[in-house]
Amino acid sequence: MTSNSRVVVLGAGLAGVRLARRLGELGMPALVVGDEEHRPYNRVLLAEVLAGRYSPEVIALPAPAGLVRARVTGIDRARRVLACADGSEIAYGTLVLATGSNPVLPPLRGLFTPDHVLPEGVHAFRTMDDCLGLSKAVRPGVRAVVVGGGLLGVSAARALAVRGAQVVLAQQAERLMERQLDPDASRLVHRHLKDLGVEVHTECRVRDVRCLGGAVRSVEMADGYALDADLVVLACGVSPRAGLARAAGIAVHKGVLVDDALRTSDPHIRAIGDCAQHDGTVYGLAAPALEQADVLAESLAGNPDSRYTGTRALTRLTLAGNSAFDLAAFGETEPRPGDDVVQLSDATRGTYRKVVVRDDRLVGGVLVGDLGTVGALARAWEGAEPLPSDGGPLLHLLTNGGT
Ligand SMILES: Cc1cc2nc3c(=O)[nH]c(=O)nc-3n(C[C@H](O)[C@H](O)[C@H](O)COP(=O)(O)OP(=O)(O)OC[C@H]3O[C@@H](n4cnc5c(N)ncnc54)[C@H](O)[C@@H]3O)c2cc1C
Repeated sequence: MTSNSRVVVLGAGLAGVRLARRLGELGMPALVVGDEEHRPYNRVLLAEVLAGRYSPEVIALPAPAGLVRARVTGIDRARRVLACADGSEIAYGTLVLATGSNPVLPPLRGLFTPDHVLPEGVHAFRTMDDCLGLSKAVRPGVRAVVVGGGLLGVSAARALAVRGAQVVLAQQAERLMERQLDPDASRLVHRHLKDLGVEVHTECRVRDVRCLGGAVRSVEMADGYALDADLVVLACGVSPRAGLARAAGIAVHKGVLVDDALRTSDPHIRAIGDCAQHDGTVYGLAAPALEQADVLAESLAGNPDSRYTGTRALTRLTLAGNSAFDLAAFGETEPRPGDDVVQLSDATRGTYRKVVVRDDRLVGGVLVGDLGTVGALARAWEGAEPLPSDGGPLLHLLTNGGT
C-alpha cells in the first residue's frame, strides 16, 4: 500500500483499536499511532484494576498489527503528514482522529507546582498510568479525597475504599451522578458508598490544595474547612482532546465536528470516539465510540450507505466485589408534566426500578441493584416503538425483562 492511500488512526484507545480491527477484517490494514506506554486496554475497566479486582493484563485489548508508539504533535494537512514528538513524520492518505478525552482539571489554588505538574499525591483518573500511580499510593488507612461525584468519582471512591483507604468524596452538585440519575437512585448510590465507609459531602466545593515539600497535605473547602489528605483524585469530568485538530484549522466546537460519514471539515480526515462531536453531541461513552468505529470501517471500505445517525447511549456502572452494586440509566430519568412513571423500589434489597413514558413511548429509565430487565428496556427505548397503551406490558418489561 502506498503512503497516499494509507489509513492512519491517531489514538490507540477503545475507538481506534476497534476501527483497526474492523478494517483488518475488511482487508484494509491500518496504522495505529498511540502515545501510551502500555498495551491498548479497555479504559472502562480501570476502576476494577484500581480496586485490585483485575490485573492490567486482564483488561488489555488485542493489540492491532500495525501499532506505532509515538506522540503526535502536529498535523500538516497540506502534505498529509503527522509530526511526532521524536522528530519523525508519518504520512497518511486518510487520517482518523481517535484521540479521546482529557481530564478536566478544576481551577483549584495550589493545584500545580511551579514546574506546572500536579503535586505528589494528586492524580487524575483517565489512564493506566493514573491508575497504577494511585494503586501504588493506596494503602489501608491512607486518607484520600475524591473531587467530583459523577460516574468517575463514584467509581474511584469505591475502588479506593475497597483497598482500605479512608475516603472522602466532595461533590459540588447537590447529589451524586446528578447528570444520569434521578434523586432516588442517587440516594442509593450514596448509601452504597456510605456502607463502604466513604464519607460523602454534597454541595461542597473544594477551593485549595495545600502542599508541603511538593506533596499534597490537605484540601480546603470553599467554607474554609480543611481535610487532611495523602491522596487526591480529580474526577471533575472530561473534555474532548481536540487541540491538534484545532491547531490544524479543522472545525472544532466542543469536539471535532463530524458529519454522518464521520468526516471532519477536511475531507481526508475523519474523527470518532470521545474527541468527536456529531449532531451537537459529544458522548464521552464507550458504546458510541465503538459504534462510530464500526460505521467508519464500513465507510472507509467503500460502503456508501454506511452512515452514523447517533447512539442512544445507556450509562452502566458495575461495582463488583463483595458488595456488588449495579446501575443502569438511559434517556430522561425525570418526568415532565404529563409523563407516566412506573416505579418499583425495595428498600431492604436496595433495588430500584423506574421508567418514564411519554406519548406511549419509553423516554428513559433507571435501574439500581437488579439489572435483569435492562436489555429488554434498552431495546424498547432504542427502538422508540409505541408501547401498548394499557401499561400492562410495560410493567411486565420492568419486572420480567419481557420473558
Ligand atoms: C475510569 C473510567 C471509567 C469509565 N467508565 C465508563 C463506563 O462505565 N461506561 C462508558 O460507556 N464509558 C466509560 N468511560 C469512558 C470511556 O472509557 C471512553 O468513552 C472511551 O474510552 C472512549 O474511547 P476513545 O477511543 O474515543 O478514547 P480513549 O479510550 O481515551 O483513547 C484515546 C487514545 O488516544 C491517545 N492519544 C491522544 N492524543 C494523542 C496524540 N497526540 N498522540 C498519540 N496518541 C494520542 C490517548 O493517549 C489514548 O490512548 C470511562 C472512562 C474512565 C477513564
